[in-house]
Amino acid sequence: MYIDTHAHLTFPEFAVDLPDVIQRAKDAKLEAIINIALDDEALQKSIAIANDYPGYVFTAAGIHPHEASTWKESDYQRFKDLAKQHKLIAIGETGLDYHYKLSPIEQQQTVFRKFLQLAQELDLPAVIHSREASHDTATILREENRGKLKGVLHCFAGDMDLGKAALDMGLYISFTANITYPKANVIREAAKQVSLDRIMIETDCPFLAPQDFRGKRNEPSYVVKVAEKIAEVKGLSIEDVAIASTRNAKQLFRL
Ligand SMILES: [Zn+2]
Ligand SMILES: [Zn+2]
Repeated sequence: MYIDTHAHLTFPEFAVDLPDVIQRAKDAKLEAIINIALDDEALQKSIAIANDYPGYVFTAAGIHPHEASTWKESDYQRFKDLAKQHKLIAIGETGLDYHYKLSPIEQQQTVFRKFLQLAQELDLPAVIHSREASHDTATILREENRGKLKGVLHCFAGDMDLGKAALDMGLYISFTANITYPKANVIREAAKQVSLDRIMIETDCPFLAPQDFRGKRNEPSYVVKVAEKIAEVKGLSIEDVAIASTRNAKQLFRL
């Protein structure tokens, strides 16, 4: 009924009780979890987890903008080979993060462009991360879109200039549980504006636990809270949001 389209199950927060976490996701009626690997070590672990839960946990991989400075030219071919071995269902996350600027901006932009090119070459969706970089994200998406770009703007922060640019290109917009935070009016307003056939839901766990569990570890089963809040702000039933967001995710990731 639900799909968590963005989880980080390889983080140490899940090292001890991952089987319980997955079981709770199943109990909460999640149909699938997309696990996002941020580096090589995470990728190996992600592939192992996906093998443990075939048809339930899927792997996407890229280089997070924080790690953009680790990019080597040979990575393009390496990711291409990995994807071709059918181990990846999406490329990313990739994008721009100007909040921490852990990698130089120019390097983030270069790597973002490379991954958008790779995603299109492989005909895979891109999982896009943008934090405090809306303008440049929109510009690069427009410049790199060769008419074949598919993907999702994940952890959407509510800037509808970027939102509209993404929607115009046929991308999806994914909301996390930060939509449940009292101060997140901008995100809730955005959820009102984005039509249901473009919305996906995610946890981005272990980060961003919903308001009821704030400060604790987030986990895939809590994605239900995201659907609940979107339903509330759009005046819909939670079933409507679950059905649409799951259909969207299945379409994009070809599940
Ligand atoms: Zn992200
Ligand atoms: Zn993430």
